[in-house]
Amino acid sequence: MTFANKRFAIVGAGLMGRLLSLSLAKRGAKVELFDKGDARGNESAARVAAAMLAPLAESAITEDSVVRMGVYSLPRWKALIEELSSPVFFQQDGTLILWHRQDAAEAERFTSHLDKNSLHNSQLSPPRRLNAQELLDFEPSVAERFTQGLYLPNEGQLDNRQLLDALLSELDTLGVSCHWNTELDPEALRNDSGYHCILDCRGNGAKDAWSSHTNNIRSLRGVRGEVIRLYAPEVKLRRPTRLIHPRYPIYIAPKENDVYVVGATEIESEDLSPMSVRSAMELLSAVYTVHSGFAESRILEMATQCRPTLKNNLPEVLIKKEKGLTDLILINGLYRHGFMISPAVLDATIELLESGQSNTALELGLSVTNLIHEAGVCA
Ligand SMILES: Cc1cc2nc3c(=O)[nH]c(=O)nc-3n(C[C@H](O)[C@H](O)[C@H](O)COP(=O)(O)OP(=O)(O)OC[C@H]3O[C@@H](n4cnc5c(N)ncnc54)[C@H](O)[C@@H]3O)c2cc1C
Repeated sequence: MTFANKRFAIVGAGLMGRLLSLSLAKRGAKVELFDKGDARGNESAARVAAAMLAPLAESAITEDSVVRMGVYSLPRWKALIEELSSPVFFQQDGTLILWHRQDAAEAERFTSHLDKNSLHNSQLSPPRRLNAQELLDFEPSVAERFTQGLYLPNEGQLDNRQLLDALLSELDTLGVSCHWNTELDPEALRNDSGYHCILDCRGNGAKDAWSSHTNNIRSLRGVRGEVIRLYAPEVKLRRPTRLIHPRYPIYIAPKENDVYVVGATEIESEDLSPMSVRSAMELLSAVYTVHSGFAESRILEMATQCRPTLKNNLPEVLIKKEKGLTDLILINGLYRHGFMISPAVLDATIELLESGQSNTALELGLSVTNLIHEAGVCA
């Protein structure tokens, strides 16, 4: 199918909504993008995220399909970012894993898990153990406090806020009409026969839709996460660093200009209220044990958002076709891996729109459900 001059409505201008809008607009489609928040993405999980792209590290806690989507997405991110007119900080220099001596057993368990996963998946580079000298070469700023570490090659990160802004300016250039502060139910747009297809990218805003379309089988929930942004010119960490800890494992993602994103709590709650004192104390005391320079850092922001999460913690694309109504595609469940896997989900969705099927989804194990079986989606 050719997209030229076909009209699409995309509801939700967080991570997936912006990526899909850009991809469709570049193919000549006429896209309208709606969001209940503002142009900065103030209501999205995408704005708060650390945006680490860490398939091997995440393989310790997620399914193989998500890991494969993460591996697929790393080079895709590089290409997507290169095509943008505004610069977006992107780094693919690996992840460093650290632990204090008393947590060596936990670190050993984690390491053998990753060893096993990298054996199982040949696309994952195996983790590499670092001794004191190697750690000094890799990340001199932490070598005073730690005498060993683990290096996960190829993993990356990007600057989520620069990305959201850069995508938006690209959308402006391509003439996508963006409607901010506009809360919509995508279902209500389906009577407008002018649209070729409607994409629901509302993240947590799509809770009711997922429950009603799937009879609660795939209900969507928010998983609360809190992060702290620090300005720490005394700390010179080069790459994302994770601290293994039995009670509060943390990551530190160094962005440009001495800014560090430290996170994240993971709490089974949809509470969006400000960060708790307990979470702040845990994150800050843990980060200080990695580098004493964090003591003099300045707290730029403490932020809370919920990760949009389906029952099985996996992403899914749901296709709803009904006679007389515009087709609706729901993309959701990106959970804590939205940045890590979104290029894979993007490519799969575009293929579904083009031909009604997606080899990318099949190969990577992305679940695609047709609520009403018909040949071709939006064809
Ligand atoms: C603390 C935290 C840390 C994270 N760290 C990472 C990480 O390091 N790596 C990683 O890969 N992922 C990370 N994530 C996950 C990632 O941010 C999400 O998976 C991703 O943002 C989900 O994308 P989305 O487009 O589905 O939803 P969102 O980005 O949340 O966007 C949804 C948009 O829909 C809009 N919306 C909702 N309802 C309506 C409505 N009715 N009408 C109009 N608009 C509506 C919202 O305003 C929002 O802009 C993190 C998330 C959190 C919260």
